[in-house]
Amino acid sequence: MLERQDYEEFRKAVRRLAETKIQPHAADVDEKKRFPEEALAAFKELQLIALPFDESIGGQSGDVLAQCICLEEIARVCATSSLTLMVIWAGLGPIASFGSPQLIEEVMEPAINGNTVASICLTEIHGGSDVWGARTRAQYKDGQWVLNGQKRYITNASRSDWYSVLARTGENSFGVFAVHKSDPGLSFGKLESKMGVRGSPTADVIFEECRVDDYRLLGDSKEGRQYITDSLAYTRPLIGAQALGIAQGALDAAIKYVKEREVFGQQVARFQMIRGTIGDLATEIEASRQLLYRSCEAVENKEPEARTLASMAKLFCSNVAMKVATESVQLHGGAGYLTDFPVERMMRDAKITQIYEGTSEIQKLIVAKAMLSD
Ligand SMILES: Cc1cc2nc3c(=O)[nH]c(=O)nc-3n(C[C@H](O)[C@H](O)[C@H](O)COP(=O)(O)OP(=O)(O)OC[C@H]3O[C@@H](n4cnc5c(N)ncnc54)[C@H](O)[C@@H]3O)c2cc1C
Repeated sequence: MLERQDYEEFRKAVRRLAETKIQPHAADVDEKKRFPEEALAAFKELQLIALPFDESIGGQSGDVLAQCICLEEIARVCATSSLTLMVIWAGLGPIASFGSPQLIEEVMEPAINGNTVASICLTEIHGGSDVWGARTRAQYKDGQWVLNGQKRYITNASRSDWYSVLARTGENSFGVFAVHKSDPGLSFGKLESKMGVRGSPTADVIFEECRVDDYRLLGDSKEGRQYITDSLAYTRPLIGAQALGIAQGALDAAIKYVKEREVFGQQVARFQMIRGTIGDLATEIEASRQLLYRSCEAVENKEPEARTLASMAKLFCSNVAMKVATESVQLHGGAGYLTDFPVERMMRDAKITQIYEGTSEIQKLIVAKAMLSD
């Protein structure tokens, strides 16, 4: 853990980068549904892609709290850009943790330098909540792994260089495989048209007799379930951070607006009912932040309750994001409904945080299971 002051310095640096290099393109990225290339270039300036990875492979060994602060500040101005970075981390994570030295050298060096986009492929057609119902298969044949199946709703699909893919290696066992965009048998479905995070490409990733060499298997061919379970405990706070950033961005925009706007001959910010709303929203945001940072501490220290706290943080922060973004539109009146103001986009973006990386219902089930010890 760094000193508190170091985290604040880091936050300021990311905020400066986000406000100058990412925010100016956020509305355009959303409107044109285009990949946030400017954000990808900006990440290089602070080596943000390298942040979570170990120094031994060229990373920055930034802990979960630093990663959350980073995503929070980026999501405050552009949720699409925060998603892009988070999924690059999620896609590279299993490679960095379980890849062979050959694979790590091939993938991680360009990635650390910010020249790689990656995806994580878990969800399938018959149900994302039921991760272990995955039917994509990997069979070992003549020294290679042959993948067949179809992954659904994959972020960065078609733009990524590398895909970390969960596939069934036996009746009850899973492996995780690194697939490159140029591997034969890999193709993509149509780009989905979405409510929010519209600059982030989402598509099916299809494997038809897709052959990868043995060194592309990550770790043990039967331990994929454990690898993914562990990594979800770590990525859920990151979605919480994205949600928190959206909430903060929406409230900041609303505060600016109510101080500028005058009706009935006075600033909207002078109305007591409006002040009550702002007091409530700011309090809920701060409560989210404290729960999120506590979950980071638990994940970092591998505390027994880390998984439960990560789910609580994801559940709470995403609900607060949806509430704050919706109320921030309300605080803008008619202007909030127009694309001229960022809160309209933020309200659409907030919704996804209650859905991906395990829906709110799935987070509640995880928390309840821990409470009931069953
Ligand atoms: C924009 C976007 C980006 C995504 N990016 C990725 C990605 O990069 N990689 C990836 O692998 N996946 C990705 N996903 C998939 C995402 O994680 C899943 O959509 C999510 O986990 C929900 O799965 P589902 O859509 O199949 O919903 P379903 O599982 O079909 O759920 C439908 C409803 O049933 C509820 N439900 C399901 N099971 C239970 C239960 N046991 N008890 C109570 N309620 C239940 C759910 O909460 C939901 O309300 C993405 C999705 C979207 C929309």
